[in-house]
Amino acid sequence: MVNSDGYRLFVNQVELVSQTNPGLTSFVKEGIPGLKGEINLVDDGNGLIDTYSVEILATSNFPNSFPVVFEVGKKIPINYDWHVYETDGHCCIKTTPEEMLACKKGITLSGFIEEEVKPYFFNQTFRRLNGYFYQERSHGLKGWIEFFKETFNTTDMNLIKEGLKFISKKQKPDRVSLCFCGSGEKYRKCHRDTYDKLSTLSTTDFEFMFEVLGID
Ligand SMILES: [Zn+2]
Ligand SMILES: [Zn+2]
Repeated sequence: MVNSDGYRLFVNQVELVSQTNPGLTSFVKEGIPGLKGEINLVDDGNGLIDTYSVEILATSNFPNSFPVVFEVGKKIPINYDWHVYETDGHCCIKTTPEEMLACKKGITLSGFIEEEVKPYFFNQTFRRLNGYFYQERSHGLKGWIEFFKETFNTTDMNLIKEGLKFISKKQKPDRVSLCFCGSGEKYRKCHRDTYDKLSTLSTTDFEFMFEVLGID
């Protein structure tokens, strides 16, 4: 059944995750290796806040994409508004650009569980209790735009599009040159952090984003 490198690398890390999360055990679904069981959310004093039943399946290109997470305890609705894909019911852990950034150097399974899956479910619990998300990010393209507005610190979509085009060429500006955004500020005082963050994405990542954002 383990017929891809991604699956093999995933399986190699399952044991470690089970040690820190005893509720999760290894299983195989339709030939795909995964983890199945309970994820416990605890507070700083190790008190139990909430539990989610999950199935987490490997991807063939693990560790360069997120494993696929399903909430199978019916605590959250299968609804885009709840960051659950209505197509097959898997959880929308992050927007695609943020997933690309998180995965560019490869992830670890335990890091994924602790830093992505648990915060996702904390956010779901918060929403169930309070009626809104603690960390709101819209689903889909709207969420992408929110992410880019944050990253470029602007609401100007034209600046964002031109900025992404510039960054995709990966010609790092001189620190003292004027910023590529046209603000008249020195690059190092303006969009250097944005450049450093996004320029790590691959050409394929940029091509995909340009297609979705309608950048030519
Ligand atoms: Zn979403
Ligand atoms: Zn700038």
